[in-house]
Amino acid sequence: MASGSAPPAGPLADLHPGTLDCVHCGLCLQHCPTYIETGRETSSPRGRIYLMRGVAEGEIPLGEVLAEEAALCLGCRACETACPSGVRYGALLERTRARVAEAGLDERTSRRIERFALRKVVPYPRRLRRLVSLLALGRTLGLDRLALRLLAPDLRDLAPDVPPRAERVPLPPVTPAEGARRGRVGILIGCVMPELFGAVNAATARILARNGFDVVASTGQGCCGALQAHAGDAHLGTELLARNAQAFAADDLDALVVNSAGCGAFLREAGAHLGEAGEALAGKTRDVCEFLEEAGWRAPLGELRLRVAYDDPCHLVHGQGVAAAPRSLLARVPGLELVEHAEPDACCGAAGTYNLIEPAMSAAVLERKMAALAAVDPDVIATGNPGCIMQIRAGVRRRGLRARVAHPVELLDEASR
Ligand code: SF4
Ligand code: SF4
Repeated sequence: MASGSAPPAGPLADLHPGTLDCVHCGLCLQHCPTYIETGRETSSPRGRIYLMRGVAEGEIPLGEVLAEEAALCLGCRACETACPSGVRYGALLERTRARVAEAGLDERTSRRIERFALRKVVPYPRRLRRLVSLLALGRTLGLDRLALRLLAPDLRDLAPDVPPRAERVPLPPVTPAEGARRGRVGILIGCVMPELFGAVNAATARILARNGFDVVASTGQGCCGALQAHAGDAHLGTELLARNAQAFAADDLDALVVNSAGCGAFLREAGAHLGEAGEALAGKTRDVCEFLEEAGWRAPLGELRLRVAYDDPCHLVHGQGVAAAPRSLLARVPGLELVEHAEPDACCGAAGTYNLIEPAMSAAVLERKMAALAAVDPDVIATGNPGCIMQIRAGVRRRGLRARVAHPVELLDEASR
Protein backbone atom coordinates (compact mmCIF):
# COMPACT_ATOMS: atom_id res chain seq x y z
CA MET A 1 0.00 0.00 0.00
CA ALA A 2 1.28 3.47 -0.82
CA SER A 3 2.93 5.24 2.07
CA GLY A 4 2.88 8.72 3.42
CA SER A 5 4.07 11.50 1.18
CA ALA A 6 2.03 11.43 -2.07
CA PRO A 7 -1.54 12.66 -1.51
CA PRO A 8 -4.06 9.85 -2.03
CA ALA A 9 -5.70 10.01 -5.42
CA GLY A 10 -8.08 7.05 -5.45
CA PRO A 11 -11.89 7.29 -5.74
CA LEU A 12 -12.31 7.40 -1.92
CA ALA A 13 -9.47 9.92 -1.42
CA ASP A 14 -11.57 12.17 0.86
CA LEU A 15 -12.04 9.24 3.26
CA HIS A 16 -8.31 8.69 3.60
CA PRO A 17 -7.74 10.73 6.80
CA GLY A 18 -10.61 8.90 8.51
CA THR A 19 -9.21 5.50 7.59
CA LEU A 20 -5.84 6.42 9.12
CA ASP A 21 -7.46 6.61 12.58
CA CYS A 22 -7.62 2.80 12.54
CA VAL A 23 -4.54 1.36 14.25
CA HIS A 24 -5.49 -2.24 13.35
CA CYS A 25 -5.75 -3.31 17.00
CA GLY A 26 -8.68 -5.65 16.29
CA LEU A 27 -10.58 -4.77 19.48
CA CYS A 28 -13.72 -4.22 17.40
CA LEU A 29 -13.72 -7.65 15.79
CA GLN A 30 -15.58 -9.58 18.48
CA HIS A 31 -18.28 -6.91 18.51
CA CYS A 32 -18.94 -7.11 14.77
CA PRO A 33 -21.90 -9.34 13.86
CA THR A 34 -20.73 -10.00 10.31
CA TYR A 35 -17.25 -10.99 11.49
CA ILE A 36 -18.75 -13.25 14.16
CA GLU A 37 -20.92 -14.96 11.53
CA THR A 38 -18.30 -15.31 8.78
CA GLY A 39 -14.93 -15.25 10.57
CA ARG A 40 -13.64 -13.32 7.51
CA GLU A 41 -11.27 -10.40 8.01
CA THR A 42 -12.79 -8.55 5.03
CA SER A 43 -16.21 -8.76 6.75
CA SER A 44 -14.84 -7.07 9.88
CA PRO A 45 -14.57 -3.32 10.60
CA ARG A 46 -10.77 -3.49 10.37
CA GLY A 47 -10.93 -5.34 7.06
CA ARG A 48 -13.48 -2.94 5.58
CA ILE A 49 -11.45 0.09 6.64
CA TYR A 50 -8.36 -1.52 5.11
CA LEU A 51 -10.26 -1.91 1.83
CA MET A 52 -11.49 1.70 1.96
CA ARG A 53 -7.95 2.91 2.59
CA GLY A 54 -6.61 0.79 -0.27
CA VAL A 55 -9.19 2.31 -2.62
CA ALA A 56 -8.43 5.81 -1.31
CA GLU A 57 -4.74 5.29 -2.00
CA GLY A 58 -5.43 3.92 -5.47
CA GLU A 59 -3.98 0.51 -4.57
CA ILE A 60 -7.29 -1.36 -4.91
CA PRO A 61 -9.97 -0.59 -7.52
CA LEU A 62 -13.38 0.58 -6.35
CA GLY A 63 -14.98 -2.72 -7.30
CA GLU A 64 -17.09 -5.64 -6.27
CA VAL A 65 -15.13 -6.68 -3.16
CA LEU A 66 -15.66 -3.37 -1.36
CA ALA A 67 -19.21 -3.09 -2.76
CA GLU A 68 -20.11 -6.51 -1.32
CA GLU A 69 -18.53 -5.84 2.06
CA ALA A 70 -20.14 -2.40 2.31
CA ALA A 71 -23.51 -4.02 1.56
CA LEU A 72 -22.98 -6.89 4.02
CA CYS A 73 -22.11 -4.46 6.83
CA LEU A 74 -25.14 -3.81 9.04
CA GLY A 75 -24.08 -0.26 9.81
CA CYS A 76 -24.76 -1.11 13.46
CA ARG A 77 -21.75 0.90 14.65
CA ALA A 78 -20.92 -1.55 17.43
CA CYS A 79 -17.35 -1.18 16.17
CA GLU A 80 -17.42 2.56 16.98
CA THR A 81 -18.33 1.89 20.60
CA ALA A 82 -15.59 -0.75 20.87
CA CYS A 83 -12.89 1.31 19.12
CA PRO A 84 -10.29 2.92 21.42
CA SER A 85 -8.94 4.99 18.54
CA GLY A 86 -12.11 6.98 17.81
CA VAL A 87 -12.64 5.70 14.26
CA ARG A 88 -15.85 7.24 12.88
CA TYR A 89 -16.86 4.10 11.05
CA GLY A 90 -20.49 5.11 10.38
CA ALA A 91 -19.42 8.18 8.39
CA LEU A 92 -16.83 6.14 6.44
CA LEU A 93 -19.46 3.52 5.59
CA GLU A 94 -22.08 6.06 4.50
CA ARG A 95 -19.67 7.75 2.11
CA THR A 96 -18.36 4.45 0.77
CA ARG A 97 -21.91 3.30 0.05
CA ALA A 98 -22.60 6.57 -1.77
CA ARG A 99 -19.57 6.00 -4.04
CA VAL A 100 -20.56 2.38 -4.63
CA ALA A 101 -24.05 3.54 -5.64
CA GLU A 102 -22.69 6.30 -7.91
CA ALA A 103 -20.42 3.76 -9.62
CA GLY A 104 -23.40 1.41 -10.20
CA LEU A 105 -21.63 -1.46 -8.43
CA ASP A 106 -24.70 -2.92 -6.71
CA GLU A 107 -27.55 -3.38 -9.17
CA ARG A 108 -29.30 -6.41 -7.64
CA THR A 109 -33.08 -6.46 -8.14
CA SER A 110 -33.63 -6.06 -4.40
CA ARG A 111 -31.38 -2.98 -4.44
CA ARG A 112 -33.29 -1.46 -7.37
CA ILE A 113 -36.62 -2.02 -5.61
CA GLU A 114 -35.21 -0.49 -2.43
CA ARG A 115 -33.93 2.54 -4.36
CA PHE A 116 -37.32 3.04 -6.01
CA ALA A 117 -39.17 2.74 -2.69
CA LEU A 118 -36.81 5.10 -0.86
CA ARG A 119 -36.96 7.69 -3.65
CA LYS A 120 -40.53 7.47 -4.88
CA VAL A 121 -42.64 6.19 -1.98
CA VAL A 122 -41.14 6.66 1.49
CA PRO A 123 -40.71 10.48 1.36
CA TYR A 124 -44.32 10.95 0.13
CA PRO A 125 -46.86 10.47 2.95
CA ARG A 126 -49.85 9.94 0.62
CA ARG A 127 -48.10 7.28 -1.45
CA LEU A 128 -46.93 5.53 1.69
CA ARG A 129 -50.44 5.67 3.07
CA ARG A 130 -51.86 4.05 -0.08
CA LEU A 131 -49.22 1.34 0.05
CA VAL A 132 -49.97 0.55 3.69
CA SER A 133 -53.71 0.50 2.90
CA LEU A 134 -52.99 -2.02 0.15
CA LEU A 135 -50.97 -4.05 2.61
CA ALA A 136 -53.87 -3.95 5.05
CA LEU A 137 -56.23 -5.19 2.33
CA GLY A 138 -53.78 -7.97 1.45
CA ARG A 139 -53.63 -8.93 5.13
CA THR A 140 -57.44 -9.04 5.37
CA LEU A 141 -57.60 -11.32 2.33
CA GLY A 142 -54.67 -13.40 3.58
CA LEU A 143 -52.67 -12.55 0.46
CA ASP A 144 -49.62 -10.73 1.84
CA ARG A 145 -47.85 -13.64 3.55
CA LEU A 146 -48.98 -16.00 0.77
CA ALA A 147 -47.40 -13.70 -1.85
CA LEU A 148 -44.20 -13.46 0.20
CA ARG A 149 -44.12 -17.23 0.68
CA LEU A 150 -44.29 -17.67 -3.09
CA LEU A 151 -42.10 -14.75 -4.23
CA ALA A 152 -39.65 -14.20 -1.39
CA PRO A 153 -39.87 -17.03 1.18
CA ASP A 154 -36.94 -15.61 3.20
CA LEU A 155 -38.99 -12.49 3.92
CA ARG A 156 -42.39 -13.97 4.80
CA ASP A 157 -42.09 -13.34 8.55
CA LEU A 158 -41.09 -9.72 7.96
CA ALA A 159 -44.47 -8.50 6.68
CA PRO A 160 -45.29 -5.75 9.20
CA ASP A 161 -48.42 -5.69 11.31
CA VAL A 162 -50.76 -3.04 9.91
CA PRO A 163 -52.48 -1.19 12.76
CA PRO A 164 -56.19 -0.35 12.65
CA ARG A 165 -57.19 2.83 10.83
CA ALA A 166 -57.94 4.54 14.16
CA GLU A 167 -54.22 4.42 14.96
CA ARG A 168 -53.21 5.85 11.59
CA VAL A 169 -54.40 9.38 12.28
CA PRO A 170 -52.19 12.50 12.36
CA LEU A 171 -51.12 13.99 15.67
CA PRO A 172 -52.79 17.31 16.53
CA PRO A 173 -50.64 20.38 15.70
CA VAL A 174 -50.16 20.96 19.44
CA THR A 175 -50.75 18.57 22.34
CA PRO A 176 -50.98 20.90 25.36
CA ALA A 177 -49.00 20.31 28.55
CA GLU A 178 -50.88 18.88 31.52
CA GLY A 179 -50.37 20.62 34.87
CA ALA A 180 -47.60 23.18 35.33
CA ARG A 181 -46.00 23.87 31.96
CA ARG A 182 -42.26 23.12 31.76
CA GLY A 183 -41.49 23.83 28.11
CA ARG A 184 -42.33 23.37 24.45
CA VAL A 185 -40.90 20.51 22.45
CA GLY A 186 -41.24 19.32 18.89
CA ILE A 187 -41.85 15.72 17.89
CA LEU A 188 -40.43 14.05 14.79
CA ILE A 189 -43.39 12.33 13.18
CA GLY A 190 -41.29 10.38 10.67
CA CYS A 191 -42.23 8.53 7.49
CA VAL A 192 -43.31 4.98 8.36
CA MET A 193 -44.13 5.91 11.97
CA PRO A 194 -47.58 7.47 11.29
CA GLU A 195 -48.64 4.50 9.16
CA LEU A 196 -47.19 1.56 11.08
CA PHE A 197 -46.49 3.01 14.54
CA GLY A 198 -49.09 5.75 15.00
CA ALA A 199 -49.72 4.40 18.50
CA VAL A 200 -46.08 5.02 19.42
CA ASN A 201 -46.24 8.63 18.18
CA ALA A 202 -49.50 9.17 20.11
CA ALA A 203 -48.01 7.61 23.27
CA THR A 204 -44.92 9.80 22.92
CA ALA A 205 -47.02 12.98 22.69
CA ARG A 206 -49.15 11.90 25.68
CA ILE A 207 -46.27 11.11 28.03
CA LEU A 208 -44.49 14.35 27.12
CA ALA A 209 -47.71 16.31 27.78
CA ARG A 210 -48.30 14.46 31.09
CA ASN A 211 -44.80 15.50 32.09
CA GLY A 212 -45.56 19.17 31.47
CA PHE A 213 -44.48 19.81 27.87
CA ASP A 214 -46.44 21.31 25.01
CA VAL A 215 -45.81 18.97 22.08
CA VAL A 216 -45.64 20.60 18.65
CA ALA A 217 -46.01 18.53 15.47
CA SER A 218 -44.28 21.07 13.20
CA THR A 219 -45.73 21.37 9.72
CA GLY A 220 -43.31 20.92 6.83
CA GLN A 221 -41.45 18.05 8.51
CA GLY A 222 -41.30 14.59 6.95
CA CYS A 223 -39.04 11.66 6.24
CA CYS A 224 -35.67 12.59 7.81
CA GLY A 225 -33.48 11.04 5.08
CA ALA A 226 -31.67 8.50 7.28
CA LEU A 227 -32.80 5.44 5.32
CA GLN A 228 -31.77 7.05 2.04
CA ALA A 229 -28.35 8.15 3.33
CA HIS A 230 -27.63 4.73 4.83
CA ALA A 231 -28.57 3.07 1.55
CA GLY A 232 -26.07 5.22 -0.40
CA ASP A 233 -28.36 8.01 -1.63
CA ALA A 234 -26.46 10.81 0.08
CA HIS A 235 -28.00 13.54 -2.08
CA LEU A 236 -31.62 12.71 -1.26
CA GLY A 237 -30.74 12.02 2.38
CA THR A 238 -29.26 15.50 2.74
CA GLU A 239 -32.17 17.13 0.88
CA LEU A 240 -34.73 15.56 3.21
CA LEU A 241 -32.67 16.43 6.27
CA ALA A 242 -32.48 20.08 5.13
CA ARG A 243 -36.26 20.21 4.77
CA ASN A 244 -36.65 19.05 8.35
CA ALA A 245 -34.02 21.47 9.65
CA GLN A 246 -36.01 24.30 8.08
CA ALA A 247 -39.34 23.06 9.42
CA PHE A 248 -38.13 22.70 13.02
CA ALA A 249 -36.20 25.99 12.96
CA ALA A 250 -39.47 27.79 12.16
CA ASP A 251 -40.93 26.74 15.54
CA ASP A 252 -39.49 28.01 18.79
CA LEU A 253 -38.67 24.65 20.36
CA ASP A 254 -36.74 23.81 23.51
CA ALA A 255 -35.94 20.38 22.09
CA LEU A 256 -36.85 18.09 19.21
CA VAL A 257 -37.93 14.74 20.64
CA VAL A 258 -37.41 11.62 18.52
CA ASN A 259 -38.78 8.13 19.20
CA SER A 260 -37.02 6.34 16.35
CA ALA A 261 -33.35 5.60 17.12
CA GLY A 262 -32.25 5.51 13.48
CA CYS A 263 -33.76 8.92 12.76
CA GLY A 264 -32.39 10.38 16.01
CA ALA A 265 -28.84 9.27 15.23
CA PHE A 266 -29.06 10.82 11.76
CA LEU A 267 -30.49 14.14 13.03
CA ARG A 268 -27.75 14.32 15.66
CA GLU A 269 -25.17 14.22 12.87
CA ALA A 270 -26.94 16.87 10.80
CA GLY A 271 -24.01 19.26 11.25
CA ALA A 272 -21.80 17.03 9.10
CA HIS A 273 -24.37 17.25 6.28
CA LEU A 274 -25.78 20.79 6.59
CA GLY A 275 -23.21 22.91 8.44
CA GLU A 276 -24.62 25.57 10.79
CA ALA A 277 -28.32 24.81 10.18
CA GLY A 278 -27.54 21.17 10.86
CA GLU A 279 -25.66 21.97 14.07
CA ALA A 280 -28.73 23.83 15.37
CA LEU A 281 -30.95 20.84 14.61
CA ALA A 282 -28.47 18.35 16.05
CA GLY A 283 -28.13 20.39 19.24
CA LYS A 284 -31.88 20.22 19.90
CA THR A 285 -32.39 16.55 19.07
CA ARG A 286 -33.03 14.17 21.97
CA ASP A 287 -34.26 10.61 22.17
CA VAL A 288 -37.61 10.57 23.99
CA CYS A 289 -36.35 8.50 26.96
CA GLU A 290 -33.16 10.50 27.21
CA PHE A 291 -35.18 13.72 27.22
CA LEU A 292 -37.60 12.58 29.91
CA GLU A 293 -34.81 11.22 32.08
CA GLU A 294 -32.87 14.50 31.79
CA ALA A 295 -35.96 16.62 32.42
CA GLY A 296 -37.07 14.41 35.33
CA TRP A 297 -40.16 12.18 35.05
CA ARG A 298 -42.99 13.67 37.11
CA ALA A 299 -46.28 12.03 35.99
CA PRO A 300 -47.78 9.52 38.45
CA LEU A 301 -47.14 5.90 37.47
CA GLY A 302 -49.54 3.02 38.10
CA GLU A 303 -48.64 -0.63 38.44
CA LEU A 304 -47.70 -2.86 35.46
CA ARG A 305 -47.05 -6.44 36.51
CA LEU A 306 -44.74 -7.39 33.64
CA ARG A 307 -41.31 -8.94 33.13
CA VAL A 308 -39.69 -6.70 30.51
CA ALA A 309 -36.50 -7.39 28.56
CA TYR A 310 -35.13 -4.10 27.24
CA ASP A 311 -33.14 -4.40 24.01
CA ASP A 312 -30.82 -1.59 22.86
CA PRO A 313 -31.34 -0.35 19.30
CA CYS A 314 -27.89 0.04 17.70
CA HIS A 315 -28.56 3.61 16.63
CA LEU A 316 -29.51 4.50 20.19
CA VAL A 317 -26.72 2.77 22.13
CA HIS A 318 -23.91 3.03 19.56
CA GLY A 319 -25.17 5.96 17.46
CA GLN A 320 -26.34 8.23 20.31
CA GLY A 321 -24.75 6.75 23.44
CA VAL A 322 -28.16 6.31 25.14
CA ALA A 323 -28.43 3.11 27.20
CA ALA A 324 -29.31 3.98 30.78
CA ALA A 325 -32.31 6.32 30.27
CA PRO A 326 -34.87 3.78 28.89
CA ARG A 327 -33.92 1.24 31.57
CA SER A 328 -34.09 3.88 34.30
CA LEU A 329 -37.55 5.09 33.23
CA LEU A 330 -38.94 1.55 32.91
CA ALA A 331 -37.50 0.62 36.32
CA ARG A 332 -39.63 3.37 37.92
CA VAL A 333 -42.87 1.64 36.96
CA PRO A 334 -44.25 -0.16 40.03
CA GLY A 335 -44.51 -3.92 39.47
CA LEU A 336 -42.41 -3.87 36.29
CA GLU A 337 -39.42 -6.20 36.51
CA LEU A 338 -36.54 -5.52 34.12
CA VAL A 339 -34.86 -8.75 33.06
CA GLU A 340 -31.43 -8.59 31.46
CA HIS A 341 -30.58 -10.90 28.60
CA ALA A 342 -27.22 -11.95 27.17
CA GLU A 343 -27.21 -9.86 23.95
CA PRO A 344 -28.85 -6.49 24.73
CA ASP A 345 -26.57 -4.32 22.59
CA ALA A 346 -25.96 -6.73 19.71
CA CYS A 347 -27.64 -5.88 16.40
CA CYS A 348 -31.01 -7.55 15.71
CA GLY A 349 -30.33 -7.62 11.95
CA ALA A 350 -32.99 -5.07 10.93
CA ALA A 351 -30.58 -2.22 10.11
CA GLY A 352 -32.99 -0.07 8.11
CA THR A 353 -33.71 -1.99 4.93
CA TYR A 354 -30.84 -4.46 5.43
CA ASN A 355 -33.17 -7.33 6.34
CA LEU A 356 -34.76 -7.03 2.88
CA ILE A 357 -31.45 -6.77 0.99
CA GLU A 358 -29.31 -9.28 2.92
CA PRO A 359 -31.95 -11.67 4.34
CA ALA A 360 -29.57 -14.57 5.09
CA MET A 361 -27.13 -12.56 7.22
CA SER A 362 -30.00 -10.65 8.81
CA ALA A 363 -31.69 -13.92 9.83
CA ALA A 364 -28.44 -15.31 11.27
CA VAL A 365 -27.89 -12.16 13.32
CA LEU A 366 -31.51 -12.15 14.50
CA GLU A 367 -31.28 -15.80 15.56
CA ARG A 368 -28.51 -15.00 18.04
CA LYS A 369 -30.58 -12.19 19.54
CA MET A 370 -33.73 -14.32 19.76
CA ALA A 371 -31.89 -17.18 21.47
CA ALA A 372 -30.82 -14.73 24.19
CA LEU A 373 -34.35 -13.32 24.53
CA ALA A 374 -35.97 -16.76 24.54
CA ALA A 375 -33.70 -17.79 27.42
CA VAL A 376 -35.26 -15.16 29.71
CA ASP A 377 -38.86 -15.64 28.43
CA PRO A 378 -40.11 -12.07 29.05
CA ASP A 379 -43.73 -10.87 28.87
CA VAL A 380 -42.59 -7.87 26.84
CA ILE A 381 -39.52 -7.07 24.76
CA ALA A 382 -39.05 -3.28 24.71
CA THR A 383 -36.97 -1.50 22.10
CA GLY A 384 -36.98 2.08 20.80
CA ASN A 385 -36.76 1.82 17.04
CA PRO A 386 -39.47 0.87 14.53
CA GLY A 387 -37.18 -1.33 12.39
CA CYS A 388 -36.04 -3.26 15.48
CA ILE A 389 -39.65 -3.69 16.65
CA MET A 390 -40.63 -5.21 13.27
CA GLN A 391 -37.53 -7.42 13.13
CA ILE A 392 -37.89 -8.73 16.69
CA ARG A 393 -41.60 -9.36 16.05
CA ALA A 394 -40.52 -11.52 13.10
CA GLY A 395 -38.10 -13.32 15.45
CA VAL A 396 -40.89 -13.86 17.99
CA ARG A 397 -43.09 -15.37 15.25
CA ARG A 398 -40.29 -17.64 13.99
CA ARG A 399 -39.55 -18.95 17.48
CA GLY A 400 -43.18 -19.08 18.63
CA LEU A 401 -42.44 -16.94 21.70
CA ARG A 402 -45.25 -15.49 23.79
CA ALA A 403 -43.62 -12.04 24.27
CA ARG A 404 -45.24 -8.83 23.06
CA VAL A 405 -42.80 -6.40 21.39
CA ALA A 406 -43.36 -2.75 22.28
CA HIS A 407 -41.67 0.64 22.31
CA PRO A 408 -40.68 1.76 25.86
CA VAL A 409 -42.94 4.81 25.52
CA GLU A 410 -45.96 2.52 25.07
CA LEU A 411 -45.24 0.91 28.45
CA LEU A 412 -44.67 4.32 30.09
CA ASP A 413 -47.92 5.54 28.56
CA GLU A 414 -49.82 2.48 29.85
CA ALA A 415 -48.36 3.01 33.33
CA SER A 416 -49.15 6.73 33.42
CA ARG A 417 -52.74 6.58 32.20
S1 SF4 B 1 -21.09 -1.37 11.57
FE1 SF4 B 1 -21.56 -3.34 12.62
S2 SF4 B 1 -21.51 -4.87 10.96
FE2 SF4 B 1 -20.50 -3.02 10.16
S3 SF4 B 1 -18.32 -3.29 10.55
FE3 SF4 B 1 -19.15 -2.15 12.34
S4 SF4 B 1 -19.72 -3.74 13.83
FE4 SF4 B 1 -19.45 -4.77 11.84
S1 SF4 C 1 -10.98 -1.09 17.21
FE1 SF4 C 1 -10.77 0.77 15.97
S2 SF4 C 1 -8.54 0.98 15.67
FE2 SF4 C 1 -8.90 -1.12 16.37
S3 SF4 C 1 -9.10 -2.31 14.46
FE3 SF4 C 1 -11.18 -1.73 15.07
S4 SF4 C 1 -11.58 0.19 13.95
FE4 SF4 C 1 -9.33 -0.15 13.90
